Amino acid sequence: MSAPPTPGANRPIYLDNHATTPPDPRVLAAMRPWWEENFANPASVEHTLGRAAEEAVEAARAEIAALIGAEAREIVLTSGATESNNLAIKGAARFAASQAPDGSAAGLERRRIITVATEHKCVLESVRDLQAEGFEPVILPVGPDGLLNPEVLRAAVDERTLLVSVMAVNNEIGVVQDLPVLVAISKVSGALFHTDAAQAAGRIPLDVGAVPIDLLSLSAHKLYGPKGIGALYVRRRPRVRLAPLLSGGGQERGLRSGTLPAPLVVGFGEAARIARLEGTLDAGRIAGQRDRFLAALQAAVPGLQVNGHAERRVSGNLNLTFPGGADAQAIMAAAPGVCVSTGSACSSAAVEPSYVLRAIGLEEAAARATLRVGIGRFTSPAEVDRAAALLARAWESTVSRRAAE
Ligand SMILES: *Cc1c(COP(=O)(O)O)cnc(C)c1O
Repeated sequence: MSAPPTPGANRPIYLDNHATTPPDPRVLAAMRPWWEENFANPASVEHTLGRAAEEAVEAARAEIAALIGAEAREIVLTSGATESNNLAIKGAARFAASQAPDGSAAGLERRRIITVATEHKCVLESVRDLQAEGFEPVILPVGPDGLLNPEVLRAAVDERTLLVSVMAVNNEIGVVQDLPVLVAISKVSGALFHTDAAQAAGRIPLDVGAVPIDLLSLSAHKLYGPKGIGALYVRRRPRVRLAPLLSGGGQERGLRSGTLPAPLVVGFGEAARIARLEGTLDAGRIAGQRDRFLAALQAAVPGLQVNGHAERRVSGNLNLTFPGGADAQAIMAAAPGVCVSTGSACSSAAVEPSYVLRAIGLEEAAARATLRVGIGRFTSPAEVDRAAALLARAWESTVSRRAAE
């Protein structure tokens, strides 16, 4: 077994907080007893240990709900945002189809599903899967700033629309969509509204009490919680109905069968509690780090371009196109002490440049010269200084080598 790098001077600087965040030490501490001391199945309510595990799960569920202004019973625990997005989109569509006279999408008045070109793959692929079942996908473009223009949505949504799915915060360029306006437009036509809030939770305020979102996806490992656990908020008033993806024991009100991983749920609850109490503080401090990092890098890299809307963005994200015919892969190879990425973690194994960057109008060469930087809760000022210096040097050495070729 290979060991992870130990903390110390040579530990790589982690600036990839969009791919995942390090678990907060308080999250790890909260989880530990539920691995070691009480490992019971929270559904085993016939005995003491099972009931204690159930209580811990329900306390965590209440914390997750509080983060987004929901009620605990509106929270369905899942394995992560991928599953939550699949359950929201396919679940809503398939439930609607099951109510049609012929039990299929063909018999539905509303069978249009609207989403956006810059969504996470799990949203786009879920919508595409539904096309094969008779639903009509509509993929809307975004502007060069990465935002969905509300007028573009208004023109697309009507009485034939079943569901609108627009992410709250983009995982590559960090832009924040105007959800209150987009939800209001969708509601005029009576469509359901889903949002993938995996990158938004803990970074910007989310309140399903103030904005009538019907379905909202969360992932614990994007907010300093454990990997392998997430949640789907499902509105109860008015009630949103879903068809489950999994058949089984009927846990989570029949919407998600399978034994709840109590330690992960407890960790998620603790991460949500910390995010609710400290998210705003984090955001302010992280914005300071971002400004410091960007100023240092811009001073060393003239012509560096920041992608995505300048103001409507989360504080930890920088999506940067390097000038001079740069190659992002080469920059990363020349700066192994800095962990950044060229795009989303899920598609960065692919050779294709980011479809998100193409959707905001970047040419292929510019997309290939682009790095995503994600600053997080545990990034120190010394780390951003050093990372800026290392990346600037890596850029300089790789472009001058190219020029010499
Ligand atoms: C990470 C991420 C996902 C996937 O979440 P998992 O919990 O890893 O399945 C979905 N959408 C967005 C925007 C993400 O950033």
